[in-house]
Amino acid sequence: MLSLRDPIRYVSGVGPEMARRLAKLEVHTLRDLLFHVPRGYRDRRLITPIAFLRPHIEASVLGRVATVRLERRLRGRRDVSAIIQDGTGAMRAVWFNQPFVERALHAGERYFFSGPVEPYRGLEMHNPEFEAEEEEEDARSEFARVIPVYGLTQGVTQRWLRARVEDALRAARDLPDPIPASWRAERSLPALSEAFAQVHFPPAPEDAEPARRRLALEELLRIQVSLLYARARHRGRRAAHPLGTGASLASRFHASLPFRLTRSQEQALEAIERDLDREVPMRRLLLGDVGSGKTVLALAAAVRAAGAGTQTAILAPTSILAEQHAETASRLLSGTEVRYALLTAATSARERKKILAEIASGAVALVIGTHALLERDLRFDALGLVVVDEQHRFGVRQRISLASKTSDVRDAHLLVLTATPIPRSLAMTLYGDLDLSLLTERPAGRAPVKTAFLRESGIDSLARILGEEVEQGGSAFVVYPVVEESETADLKSATAMFETLKRVRRLHDAGVVLVHGRLKAPERRLAIERFRSGDARILVATTVVEVGLDIPDATLIVIEHPERFGLAQLHQLRGRVGRAERPGRCVLLLGKGVGQVARQRLSIFARVENGQELAEEDLKLRGPGELLGTSQHGFPEFRAVDPARDLDLIEAARGLAQELLSGEEARGEAKLKSWIEAHFADAERYLESG
Ligand code: ADP
Ligand code: MG
Repeated sequence: MLSLRDPIRYVSGVGPEMARRLAKLEVHTLRDLLFHVPRGYRDRRLITPIAFLRPHIEASVLGRVATVRLERRLRGRRDVSAIIQDGTGAMRAVWFNQPFVERALHAGERYFFSGPVEPYRGLEMHNPEFEAEEEEEDARSEFARVIPVYGLTQGVTQRWLRARVEDALRAARDLPDPIPASWRAERSLPALSEAFAQVHFPPAPEDAEPARRRLALEELLRIQVSLLYARARHRGRRAAHPLGTGASLASRFHASLPFRLTRSQEQALEAIERDLDREVPMRRLLLGDVGSGKTVLALAAAVRAAGAGTQTAILAPTSILAEQHAETASRLLSGTEVRYALLTAATSARERKKILAEIASGAVALVIGTHALLERDLRFDALGLVVVDEQHRFGVRQRISLASKTSDVRDAHLLVLTATPIPRSLAMTLYGDLDLSLLTERPAGRAPVKTAFLRESGIDSLARILGEEVEQGGSAFVVYPVVEESETADLKSATAMFETLKRVRRLHDAGVVLVHGRLKAPERRLAIERFRSGDARILVATTVVEVGLDIPDATLIVIEHPERFGLAQLHQLRGRVGRAERPGRCVLLLGKGVGQVARQRLSIFARVENGQELAEEDLKLRGPGELLGTSQHGFPEFRAVDPARDLDLIEAARGLAQELLSGEEARGEAKLKSWIEAHFADAERYLESG
């Protein structure tokens, strides 16, 4: 009997190796596969004669390959171009930087080509998908209909994935639907099995939308139900330590700060303190741009907790961030006698043992660390407060597991920090179990960051910009996105850029270092240290800097391939400069191949500096057909939800979840739990991760 929670490796046609590859797409179960909503569709119902092609359309052509050529372009790029003929005419097809296409196409043979038609040297088809014409019915039928285009990963092809989805759909024909029929009818949404079928293979592209919305409603319902569940479970649970007795130490900390808090920091801090002084455990989200001063508030809360005789754990997603928090702590806590410790994977065993003992005895009041804090042997004496930085990288399960690491019978207060700008409406709905504080101001003395575009035209203009910056006493990041599909190539180009910059005469004395994910930790640390100390003034990096290298002196950030980043990520990157008194600059290198939509997005980014505003704009901008790239907002649960278009569904899901919970308050928790178990294939995961 089929179950949606069956691991993907048991699905026919998927072995252990393919299962590993699919895991990169977050496809672990049959359910994940069916929820792997296409990112677009190709309408292959019509084959267009070449003579009838028009620019700016997607078309399918059946033709014979006359010639295939590999063309070497600038910067080592290798494009393939082919001339395709049918009875009516000829067209050129070009594959950019996909040299392997040359070997896949054979002159003289017939293929189906499907892709966008562009007005270039007459008409060209760009990066078309193609398949040999075969006698078999199968290949033909794929071409005679609307086919899905999936997000892929290394070693997984469209064709293979389509076949697996088709198998899965056959197996998933009669699934029960957790969403009541009356609810679906009200919104004209199909039942679950039908939604799966239509979202993957819609008769016409427009038929996919109601199906996607049906799946989105389920994803949202899961979130809402688990939020309600988490809340029900916390309600009337263990009390937390009220921390009001820490007020005098906290005000000493406040007075010792080398700056004045901004008004929104003051407001947020008041709200936090009000929460901390109560016995009801705080559940608060602090949302604010990079550099808006969240860490300071977390420290203020930690001091209050220490003053009340309890301990605080600050959980950071990366070692770099943890170290950075520890530095801030050492700078700002000196006037308070609050003892803190740093615990990361890099902490030596001896050191670790000592720290653990001090945490257990209560001698250390604040511990800052990464996942290392979640390990089994860690025990607190009296844990008063847990601070989680960058919420989406940890699950609710982890914060709960941390809260239970105390011999104390009390629950801990929870403060979540996030710099991921998300629209307020979305934040309130999705983090419905948390109260919200927003930091909206830029701390005084923080200079703005100007964003400009630079056409990608050789190394000269880049070298000039970098040279000027360095000569004026600044320092610069040059950031390369490394995308998984072409990791090696990208790393190579980052390395090549590094080598080139090193040889630029004007930058001779500047010092250029390279940091990327494949470097060994000591090498990486050395490079970063050289940059921090000013010995090197230019840091070429892959996206590692995004996660929080706090280098106050960086004044310029140059971003290569900005179109590959989401706005939220770009914003995080831009937040890396302009942190000191000097104004910052952000330069986006624009290549030739960047499309219209991407340009529009980037120009909004250049215009809007505030992260919150940017998030709202981003939400408005997402056009039809563009399904949410979940990584953008950091909600790994979402595959079908499109927040730009699904606000009504968010509301609906909330209403539905509440309806399910309605009735006796006391039995709410049990009732929800059994509902989740009955309807959600992967209930355990759900109950744990909320
Ligand atoms: P976030 O955690 O939101 O990225 P931080 O709390 O790390 O921001 O603050 C960034 C830097 O700004 C730190 O060096 C901090 O000491 C400083 N800072 C925080 N608040 C203020 C303020 N109100 N005025 C001036 N500097 C501030
Ligand atoms: Mg921070």
